[in-house]
Amino acid sequence: MAAPVSETLDPDDWQALRAQGHRMLDDILDYAEHIRERPVWQSIPDEIRAQFRQTLPVGPSDLATVHQQFMDNILPYSVGNSHPGFMGWVHGGGNPVGTLAEMLAAGLNANLGGRDHMPIEVEKQLTRWVASLFDFPDSASGLFVTGTSMANFIAVLVARAQALGNSVRLQGVAASGSRLVAYTSAGAHACIAQAMDMAGLGTDALRIIPMNSNFEMDTALLQAAIQADRAAGMKPFFIAGTAGSVDVGAIDNLTALADIAKQEQLWFHIDGAFGALAILAPDIAPRLQGIQRADSIAFDFHKWLQVPYDAGFILVRDSAAHYATFATPASYLRREAKGLAAGSPWPCDFGPDLSRGFRALKTWFTIQVYGAERLGRMIAHTCALGQYMKAAILAHPQLELLAPVALNIVCFRYRCENPDDINARIVVALQESGISAPSTNIVNQQLAIRAAIVNHRTCAEDIDTLISATVAIGDKLSKQDDTHHDK
Ligand SMILES: *Cc1c(COP(=O)(O)O)cnc(C)c1O
Repeated sequence: MAAPVSETLDPDDWQALRAQGHRMLDDILDYAEHIRERPVWQSIPDEIRAQFRQTLPVGPSDLATVHQQFMDNILPYSVGNSHPGFMGWVHGGGNPVGTLAEMLAAGLNANLGGRDHMPIEVEKQLTRWVASLFDFPDSASGLFVTGTSMANFIAVLVARAQALGNSVRLQGVAASGSRLVAYTSAGAHACIAQAMDMAGLGTDALRIIPMNSNFEMDTALLQAAIQADRAAGMKPFFIAGTAGSVDVGAIDNLTALADIAKQEQLWFHIDGAFGALAILAPDIAPRLQGIQRADSIAFDFHKWLQVPYDAGFILVRDSAAHYATFATPASYLRREAKGLAAGSPWPCDFGPDLSRGFRALKTWFTIQVYGAERLGRMIAHTCALGQYMKAAILAHPQLELLAPVALNIVCFRYRCENPDDINARIVVALQESGISAPSTNIVNQQLAIRAAIVNHRTCAEDIDTLISATVAIGDKLSKQDDTHHDK
């Protein structure tokens, strides 16, 4: 038989590819360097959206042409979270070092599911770094995941196996005969309930504990709920505290939660999606007191640490419990003492993913190049901007603060008639203006304009701009409303 003719995906002309690659690198660094000259966000024109309703390309296209399509049709209509005026939801701003590291990771094309290679050592290095940040033992296990939603899910699964024994992995939850119940605050992220759903426990088994006036879980009500559940024959197993709530940035009383979890022998998990990394800021770290006593912590490097998406993380104190929840014997994943199949346990023994990218590299680069001290300063700066913004709101007769500013999230509104309607329209108008992009939430049944100051590029002028644009748009909209009513 004649040998098949080979055709690789590599270019015939590496020089031309390099030149085009350098242009692509320049374009994306230009994007970061000149981000302020762009609108934060702009809505996608119909004709651009329509460009993405094409049939599958059968033949080849020029790389330069496809890159130009990216520059014209994708880049300008992105979320805008790299922009200093972006303050919606909780989005990190990314950073140029992380961009470059991501390119290296893509080129290396490592699969971090397992086997014995240096990229896994980088991930283990990160695990030891974060273990030391949170005073966890060196033996703690950690895993990069997409985000905190997945990290919280993993924590629920580990706690579930601890509560029911590993037979739950074979027999399922129903066979245990136990009704597991978990606890979190009304301010917790919705992904905790989703984790309960996905773990087969059901969202009804998550007790939503009301918050005190500082938006922290009411610990007396938590204790009462645990007692009531025990009395009703339920099996409490899991408390999810929040360090940096998504709606107002509140931090639960983690020490009190740790005490209750210990006394009740429950798994103590912390959703610290963005807030946990405030441990890097010396002035804020004391407010996370108690985080060191958690059984597991979920957080994102892609939020406050500005690592490009995605880079979530789960840290578990008891690596044996973590391993026992996920490790699965499979002949094709056989381990050896030497050779490429050495290095057991592998990352795939600690979570549901087998093939995994090298998220650790952009995180390792970011932490090394900037250093923990500077990253902590950057986090503290966003909190200082939160206080600056709070002061500006309190000083402004037309604005009203709707929640305490614990960290970097500011909830406020423009004072007027029909405030829910007008403030929702103010936020849309701000986003469409391209000047600033806050989002909304509901605080004490009132619609709030919510500014989450996460981006390292945001400065005091961006806050001033948001405040003055809010007032200008609010004035205009409420005047229009008045004329409308007069008719
Ligand atoms: C962002 C966030 C999440 C979800 O994290 P993802 O990375 O988006 O999955 C969970 N909890 C809190 C408090 C968050 O801010």
